[in-house]
Amino acid sequence: MHLLPTSSPPSLVRQLVSALISPSSSLLRPLHPPVSLLSRRPLTASTLPMPDGDDSLLRKALADKLATIQAQANAVRQLKASGAPKSDIDAAVQSLNALKLDKASLETQLLQSATNNRDAFRQALVNTLERRLFYMPSFKIYRGVAGLYDYGPPGCAVKSNVLAFWRQHFVLEENMLEVDCPCVTPEIVLKASGHVEKFTDLMVKDEKTGTCYRADHLLKDYCKDKLEKDLTITAEKAAELKHVLALLDDLSAEELGAKIKEYGITAPDTKNHLSDPYPFNLMFQTSIGPSGLSPGYMRPETAQGIFVNFKDLYYYNGNKLPFAAAQIGQAFRNEISPRQGLLRVREFTLAEIEHFVDPQDKSHPKFSEIASLKFLMFPREGQMSGQSAERLQIGEAVAKGIVNNETLGYFIGRVYLFLTRLGIDKERLRFRQHLANEMAHYAADCWDAEIECSYGWIECVGIADRSAYDLCAHSDKSGVALVAQEKYSEPREVEKLVIAPVKKELGLAFKGNQKMVTEALEVMDEKVALQMKADLESKGEVEFYICCLGKNVTVKKSMVSISKEKKKEHQRVFTPSVIEPSFGIGRIIYCLFEHAFYTRPSKAGDEQLNVFRFPPLVAPIKCTVFPLVQNQQYEEVAKFISKSLTAAGISHKIDITGTSIGKRYARTDELGVPFAVTVDSTSSVTIRERDSKDQIRVNMENVAAVVKEVTDGQSTWDGILKAYPLHSSGSVDEE
Ligand code: AMP
Repeated sequence: MHLLPTSSPPSLVRQLVSALISPSSSLLRPLHPPVSLLSRRPLTASTLPMPDGDDSLLRKALADKLATIQAQANAVRQLKASGAPKSDIDAAVQSLNALKLDKASLETQLLQSATNNRDAFRQALVNTLERRLFYMPSFKIYRGVAGLYDYGPPGCAVKSNVLAFWRQHFVLEENMLEVDCPCVTPEIVLKASGHVEKFTDLMVKDEKTGTCYRADHLLKDYCKDKLEKDLTITAEKAAELKHVLALLDDLSAEELGAKIKEYGITAPDTKNHLSDPYPFNLMFQTSIGPSGLSPGYMRPETAQGIFVNFKDLYYYNGNKLPFAAAQIGQAFRNEISPRQGLLRVREFTLAEIEHFVDPQDKSHPKFSEIASLKFLMFPREGQMSGQSAERLQIGEAVAKGIVNNETLGYFIGRVYLFLTRLGIDKERLRFRQHLANEMAHYAADCWDAEIECSYGWIECVGIADRSAYDLCAHSDKSGVALVAQEKYSEPREVEKLVIAPVKKELGLAFKGNQKMVTEALEVMDEKVALQMKADLESKGEVEFYICCLGKNVTVKKSMVSISKEKKKEHQRVFTPSVIEPSFGIGRIIYCLFEHAFYTRPSKAGDEQLNVFRFPPLVAPIKCTVFPLVQNQQYEEVAKFISKSLTAAGISHKIDITGTSIGKRYARTDELGVPFAVTVDSTSSVTIRERDSKDQIRVNMENVAAVVKEVTDGQSTWDGILKAYPLHSSGSVDEE
């Protein structure tokens, strides 16, 4: 086993690399609205997350070079100020330029070295994960399928721990209504939501072999490769490539195609020419039932199942707002070129919350509980002006209007607590606000929880205020009003738009379609209705699009009366807004693996041992039980302890093989098991903590209670250390 140092990367390298390839540079300007409201952004690989080997010499050289440049720049300034001869000034400027060239070369070397370290770190991690069956490519004996992975035993346990904590932290804490809807979804639902038309990525094909690639990924890889590896490119070219990277998400099919041609990008595997980019819908299509007449799709998200059930859930909740529904389930996206392991796959687990709220009151009763939390936030303004993420207090961010409303802020705070309690490093977690051009037109505000790993900053949770869009879309398409009511204590006089379809006339004109036309007229919004009124008065008839018929019909003046009337109202009927935190469980787990993984030398110092520092909450197995040596008495104690751990509901592993204790520790450290019980007498035993390797001595009857206390979070290891005698390990410890 081999591995890299585990300290976090020195800030100089981070800043350097961030400055070189950060998407938040001032070059980041929206060109035009996004190609598709639902099209997704690529993963952003922006900064260097990984331990960075021994590039200290390079870093020192760079720091020295920066200091020399500073001194030379001052010298040039002084020469100019003192009116020195032009030849002297020119010579000094020439030296300054030469120094700057040296600096650029050092930066490139550092970047390359950092990239190599990052790749080595990832390789070691992924090898461990696959070898210990955390996860592995699905259908491996048939050479696998890209973008499909299996979780093996420890991976399954981590995943189910993450989901159990999610349920506890969100569903239980907020009294959410959990549902479980089918993955197979009829086409009409996904037509209403917009996925059939717009859930696309731009794709290019190898003109000879037909192999498909994501157009933006090819352009991104080309630009990054040039920036990282080509030492000959000019400063102007580098600036242009960075500009393209920053605008990647905004490029239309035509613009992407033009750039691919301009840079001469060919198919990576064959170097053949590529087709022009065209949209590819990412949903897996199927048909429901044997006739083939009822089209459907595997759901690309779980949210739609909640929206279509809104009416019943609202009733279940006593017709009261706000309330939230939640769902955990599989989502399917036929990614064009899945890559980056668990980060971009074709089937994954989503955990989604739809919190329904009155659009006129987005306050949250528990906001004060999280208002003082302070963490890295990356507001839109900061991104546009080239600043970095800053540590903000969420209460202030809401008060200053940086975050649109309290409920959105509340969820941002809760997501922060969720992720950090799982073991995500808070220094490598930030909440990035969507730029105006990234957000769908209907969204009020969106923030992504991004976690930094060896692939850059990865969107793991999207937290969006989607206003009333989804419920309106399903109301329109289904004809079922997905609305809420607020009952007034006193009736209120209001001026109301009254739309009264004349059913007899509509029946004569539209026969079987009368109901659909009538309902479409009734649910028109005020602006459309007033325009229709004006048009009917001036022209006598108007063309009116009926969504569920998929065509225009001609509406005549005699068919509908539209007026404004004063009315007493006893209640307000409105479409709730929805605030949606959407968690990609696989992405969170992968980032957790990266943040938890480290190595340390074996006792003999001849190899590096792998460790996952999972908090007990997520550790796949909480405890191991080892008799120190093979003998019947120790085995019996081990079995007694194992039984008491089972009774206390603690997952554990008992290892009675004769392997050395150090090897047994190393094997389970590599699975992230936080506690190891070693039986070295028939009355008391030792409990060892994985990261500190501290051991305490505990009576065998108390073992289960102690382990439970610390794995349930009632006590910390430090607390336990104070309560029990320390055991010094002597020869029974590490490898
Ligand atoms: P979206 O609906 O595109 O905002 O996705 C919601 C969440 O699902 C994201 O924040 C990701 O964590 C996760 N996600 C999206 N696409 C994938 C994918 N192809 N593989 C794994 N996770 C994904």
